[in-house]
Amino acid sequence: MINASSIYKTFNKLPVLKGISLNVRKGEIVAITGPSGAGKTTLLEILGTLSLADKKNNTKIELNGIDVTSFKKNDLAKFRNQNLGFIFQSHKLLPEFTSIENVCLPAWIAKNDNKESKNKAKKLLIKLGLKNRLNRYPSELSGGEQQRVAVARALINDPKIIFADEPSGNLDVENANELHDLFFKLRDLTKSTFIIVTHNENLANKSDRKIIIKDGKVYNE
Ligand code: ADP
Ligand code: MG
Repeated sequence: MINASSIYKTFNKLPVLKGISLNVRKGEIVAITGPSGAGKTTLLEILGTLSLADKKNNTKIELNGIDVTSFKKNDLAKFRNQNLGFIFQSHKLLPEFTSIENVCLPAWIAKNDNKESKNKAKKLLIKLGLKNRLNRYPSELSGGEQQRVAVARALINDPKIIFADEPSGNLDVENANELHDLFFKLRDLTKSTFIIVTHNENLANKSDRKIIIKDGKVYNE
């Protein structure tokens, strides 16, 4: 599902990623761990096509069987919208939109039918235990609820791969565990693939595989 090789990234002449290759199977839940500043977010953003790797001859990023390495900006944005979902540490919900509207955003960007999208958003939110929060604004939700709305938003376009960067970093233990359980349930239900950057040891140990990034490289224990 993910087939990436020779990923390098340099910021202001400072090498941050120093040749990372990884393969992830469909339906796998992979945790990416490692010290702060190791390059985890940088790697996730490159794999998720949110930023570009340095141009090198051997660099390749294949997602869902499609080689996106030399896609241009517009094609990447379209591919991302239709194939990938993102969950961040901070929910990044739009404050002036309700739960349903926030979840609909990626579907609106895909120009999907509005009524169908709203129905789907509603179903997703109900599935995630937010039946009584459909028309609330983010400020009227708890941290755990906000993050579940963000999960629904990540799922609305049926992504093949979900990228999460410290998704439970702002949650208390109980809400964090609930969110992690949700990832495993979703994987079983939809066979989607999860790449999760996390400091949470519980989650890292529960995942199918743990990849440690140290000093810009995959670190083998
Ligand atoms: P992690 O997520 O593992 O904590 P990051 O990928 O965020 O690490 O950052 C790795 C290194 O790259 C850090 O030294 C950080 O300062 C640097 N870095 C990340 N993004 C940028 C950027 N846009 N410009 C300059 N340096 C950056
Ligand atoms: Mg980070």
